[in-house]
Amino acid sequence: MSYNIVKEKLDNGKLVILDGAMGSELEKNGAQMDKKLWCGTSSIKFPEIVKKVHEDYIEAGADVITTNTYASTPISMKNYGFENSIEEYNKKSVLIAKKAVENSNKDIAIAGSVSASGSFYKLGIKTMIPNFNEQLKILTGEGVDLIILEAMSSQAEIVQAMIECSIKVKVPVWLAISCVIDNDSNEIMLGYNDSMDTPPEVYENFEKSLKKFSQLHKSPILIAHSNIDVTGKAIKIAKKNFNGIIGAYPNVGFYEKPHWIYEDNMKPEDFLIQAKSWVESGSQIIGGCCGIGPDLIKSLSNLKL
Ligand SMILES: [Zn+2]
Repeated sequence: MSYNIVKEKLDNGKLVILDGAMGSELEKNGAQMDKKLWCGTSSIKFPEIVKKVHEDYIEAGADVITTNTYASTPISMKNYGFENSIEEYNKKSVLIAKKAVENSNKDIAIAGSVSASGSFYKLGIKTMIPNFNEQLKILTGEGVDLIILEAMSSQAEIVQAMIECSIKVKVPVWLAISCVIDNDSNEIMLGYNDSMDTPPEVYENFEKSLKKFSQLHKSPILIAHSNIDVTGKAIKIAKKNFNGIIGAYPNVGFYEKPHWIYEDNMKPEDFLIQAKSWVESGSQIIGGCCGIGPDLIKSLSNLKL
């Protein structure tokens, strides 16, 4: 358990494999999703299933596994009546990831997921900042090897606030953001599209956002929770505008609270073809988000350089 192996690979131009989805995979393995906190409650109610999902990804060849803390943000937990359990849920999630790594006898890095889940924009950035800091403090205090800011479906201002909170953190911090194609202009935008029935949530031009973020953030930037089609295009834009390391972990399917629905069954060989093109475009970290499980992650080992 350390960042060394990841650093060594990145420094030597090699590929780092991330894990895939947590929420959709937990559900597939029988964990019941909470109507409000989604997969946040699983670390307490279904710790063995959470551990199994981590173990499945390690078995599939992941170099990095991510804690089940995406949905356990202090802001969501306070909002949904879990305000007394913030430390417990977040600490337990790190503990489960550590156990999975220990059992594997492999050198796997643990990424603490600090997310903007539940950061309803109306709350204002000032309210959100102490909540980001709270989750960062708990996860780094528990000894995660790196942090992934899963800012994914967030407005540029939220992403910037999260980056600013992360600057003082002692472990490496990766930034994961999502993008979408605007139906009207066909431009690549910072934004997301989870639902089949509603138009995408669109914030601002992705290139413009990226230029802002890269002023503050020098560690890896990942195109995350974005559909397969836009991911390849976004990687090319990122490569042009960011000197650091670029990665991607896309999704397949869509969300219907509290379930992730698989709209199509992507085959490992098709995922591999996509991943190959992302590597050729300069992506050095690849994994999966919602709807992408160990079978697809396993196909990435064919890319290992
Ligand atoms: Zn996702």
